[in-house]
Amino acid sequence: MPKIFDGHNDSFTRHYPPRHLRRRPLKPYSFLEREEVYSHLDLPRALEADFKGGLFAIFIDPPLAEETEPAPSGPRARSQAKFPPLDPPIDGELALRATLEVLGYVFRAERASAGKMRIVTNSRQLEEAWRSPALTVVLHLEGCEALDGDLNSLETLYRAGVRSLGPCWSRPNIFGVGVPFAYPASPDQGPGLTEAGRRLVARCGELGILLDCAHLNAQGFYDIAALSPKPLVSSHTSAHTLSPSARGLDEKQLEKIAASGGLVGVTFNVPDLIGPLGQDAATIPYPQELYAASPKGLAKLVKEKRPHRPLSELEALLSHIIYLGKRLGFEHVALGSDFDGCLIPDQIAGVQEIQKVPQALAQIGLSQGEIEQICHRNWRRVLQTTWGPAF
Ligand SMILES: [Zn+2]
Repeated sequence: MPKIFDGHNDSFTRHYPPRHLRRRPLKPYSFLEREEVYSHLDLPRALEADFKGGLFAIFIDPPLAEETEPAPSGPRARSQAKFPPLDPPIDGELALRATLEVLGYVFRAERASAGKMRIVTNSRQLEEAWRSPALTVVLHLEGCEALDGDLNSLETLYRAGVRSLGPCWSRPNIFGVGVPFAYPASPDQGPGLTEAGRRLVARCGELGILLDCAHLNAQGFYDIAALSPKPLVSSHTSAHTLSPSARGLDEKQLEKIAASGGLVGVTFNVPDLIGPLGQDAATIPYPQELYAASPKGLAKLVKEKRPHRPLSELEALLSHIIYLGKRLGFEHVALGSDFDGCLIPDQIAGVQEIQKVPQALAQIGLSQGEIEQICHRNWRRVLQTTWGPAF
């Protein structure tokens, strides 16, 4: 069973929501206990399934009252708007306080885990933790509302161990705008990074913080591509060619990622894989067909949209993984489950069933080498290239 290094989850905020989001009493250090009712991922289940590490996001939702406020949409607003509506912005002070709260919880959990989970901040620690029995945790900020424009809080959070960030989630902030959840829609939605966003990219380069393009629109993606010499990464996304979600990456973006030596982490979010109503489940080619196709055959297969028995949700995930591997090479494809942040395939109950993915890939005929690249090697390579060598 291959070890798994995964590109994205929201499990810390699922287990320990900050004060403004609490709906239920919190169990201290519940991430260290089995919690199958509320969450996809906890420490005991992860280690049992050989889920050995990943990028763990701090993602801050707006206060509950704001969550139910309708975005400026409605049929008329929608037809007149140039771009589909984004989620409303959230307050920076609230985001910083909530981020510090969740980080504090993670540090307490790490200490209480007695060595079973290890937060890593450089390549040497990453490789040591990876080879140890512990869960390897890389701290990631999903959206940077907690950061001020002078980037002082970035320095503070860097010292606290944050080594990866996505400048924007799917809402505007001082660094840019994200990409809306729209379908069918292009990823090309509005302007890219602001001046502060460009300064953030430069500072992340100096500090050695991984930049994640997931949730950025196309222009934001190209801004990072132009400003950062590091491998381009989108931690939890899908192939727009297979299912036209605005959050998917189009062919031009995919080629940029491969040319930079980066990777695409494939999301488990079903609406991004087959459309919000499953619209594409009966036309996305089967994973077996994609794997067997020649490069020319692959383009034809995808273009013809031949109707067939609808793919299961797990098959759809496999089709995205294999399409991206055939297009870019399997050295550019990885996992980005988004556990505890999305609607995962019916066939995967949670992290305890993550090994169904490599098992299915092996049945389709992928080599052990290809499977290991997808499951952990690519993420480890990209983190080490970004952070600097291990030794
Ligand atoms: Zn996300």
